[in-house]
Amino acid sequence: MDTAPVGGLEAGGTKFVCAVGRGPDVAADTRIATTTPRETLERAIAFFRQHGPIAALGVASFGPVDLDPRSPTYGFITTTPKPGWADTDVLGPLRAALGVPVAFDTDVNAAALAEHRWGAGRDAGSVVYITVGTGIGGGAVVNGRAVHGLVHPEMGHVRIPHDRIADPFAGVCPRHGDCWEGLAAAPALTARWGRPAESLPDDHPAWPMEARYLALGIVNVILTLSPERVVLGGGVMARAGLLKRVRGSVSELLGGYVRAAEIVAPALGERSGVLGALALAEDVVKG
Ligand code: ZN
Repeated sequence: MDTAPVGGLEAGGTKFVCAVGRGPDVAADTRIATTTPRETLERAIAFFRQHGPIAALGVASFGPVDLDPRSPTYGFITTTPKPGWADTDVLGPLRAALGVPVAFDTDVNAAALAEHRWGAGRDAGSVVYITVGTGIGGGAVVNGRAVHGLVHPEMGHVRIPHDRIADPFAGVCPRHGDCWEGLAAAPALTARWGRPAESLPDDHPAWPMEARYLALGIVNVILTLSPERVVLGGGVMARAGLLKRVRGSVSELLGGYVRAAEIVAPALGERSGVLGALALAEDVVKG
């Protein structure tokens, strides 16, 4: 059946990625620098008008976001520390300007959806996607749908054991200090070791510690959701050997108690967010 193409928008803190396509086949795309909400959304709208018509739009947004359709602030970015973007209506202006149904979710839920549908989780029933970069974020897909709750999962802020004798570093999360993201995202590595994470050599003691912290968080996710597959991406995971260390540490921490999820690299790379946005739009069209 020949259906109209859909639009996907990955709304990130530094760039908005827009695409028009059918499924994972992108016909046109562009990147827009994230400036003010008004300017950025206007440029995104102009792209979709130029490359439309589209049958629906999916938005994969940085957050936290309001995903409750009954809420007056549904489709808003809520408490973000990004200047100018707190309490911003993202969905409203897009829906009003484009006149099509708009699906809205977190960037990591969308990435989980894309990896499940077209990537490293294609043959798995349940998938968790975790990104380790400027923050730590996680999304989950169960029975083909992204998992929501009162708000949405914020796996990056779970608490993990922190031995302050072995690692006196206080953590960098502005809300929680030494939560998972506060201890193990790229800014934590930079602050703890006094140099950018990417400049630390492969044999630096930072990496066994990082693998252990990542494994502690992943084990919590595995024990809570029992995913068949964990897709582990983000800039920090580009480090040679880190994925292997994390796998080893997860297996050791689980101690053979349950079957461990397979932990794999993303298959869609940096495109998982925008492809996830297309998957959200596709689901709206299917109903
Ligand atoms: Zn936190």
